[in-house]
Amino acid sequence: MSEVAAIPEGETGFDRVLRFTIPARNARGRVVRLSPVLDLIQGAHDYPPVIARLLAEALVIAALIGSLLKDGEGQMTMQAQTEDGIVDLLVCDYRGGELRGYVRHDADRLAGLGANPSLFALFGRGYLAITFDMASTGQRYQGIVPLEGDSLAAACEAYFAQSEQVPTLLRIAVRSEGGRCVAGGMLVQHLAEGEEGRERLHVKLDHPEWEHIAALAGSIRHDELIDSALSLEALVWRLFHDEPEVRVEAGNPLQRGCRCSIEHYASVIGQFPEDDRADMRDEAGLVSVDCAFCSRVFEIPA
Ligand SMILES: [Zn+2]
Repeated sequence: MSEVAAIPEGETGFDRVLRFTIPARNARGRVVRLSPVLDLIQGAHDYPPVIARLLAEALVIAALIGSLLKDGEGQMTMQAQTEDGIVDLLVCDYRGGELRGYVRHDADRLAGLGANPSLFALFGRGYLAITFDMASTGQRYQGIVPLEGDSLAAACEAYFAQSEQVPTLLRIAVRSEGGRCVAGGMLVQHLAEGEEGRERLHVKLDHPEWEHIAALAGSIRHDELIDSALSLEALVWRLFHDEPEVRVEAGNPLQRGCRCSIEHYASVIGQFPEDDRADMRDEAGLVSVDCAFCSRVFEIPA
């Protein structure tokens, strides 16, 4: 951990997370800016601009929430799902700095929408599930909230308020520049008496300490989140420089990562009884498995 003032200038770095805490206010936060990793993830799909922007927003959120995990090998999965929405499934996950995601949608119905459809126009009625899988203990925590509000970020704020009782502010910006996508985001939250991960016994969403931090954080502009001339450190400094102490720490570098491989699927298929495996095999004795994250089909000898 080091003081904001000690951070060298000029580090704009995409595909990284900066963690920060404001101890006197019992607040913590993350800022993230993505670009090359978005190109890689989007490159596996051929999404129309509306869906590409939605996935970019979701990946920024996944990086922000995922990097809250103290368990280095833990995984955060965000899933938005609906019955009959134009988008019926969005999945993103984060593990140890690795991001991946995909969006399942109806291209024909999407074509009937404008360039900036609302969250409701895209999803209709649905739910948002956020799951934390702790590698170190094998425990799984899941919270589910209605998929409501103006944006995925708003739905995630509702998740933290309702499911974890942690007041949280999320701001996300996404811009397409000459076919490339640049996205940035910030998450700030108020912890119960500074105790990370402990159950909040006295839920006070209107704590004056939090109102102060939320007002400072809320003053951030969308263009600042994606301005490559403004480092993440400078961004945090700009918002919180009047606070007595702001601690910052580099998070994991972010990269695209997927767990799909012939070996992985072979071991999964190997757990099915032989009768089932016989049903799955094609004439060549192979089982076809689809990785939706990578848009790849694997032919597994089984
Ligand atoms: Zn994959």
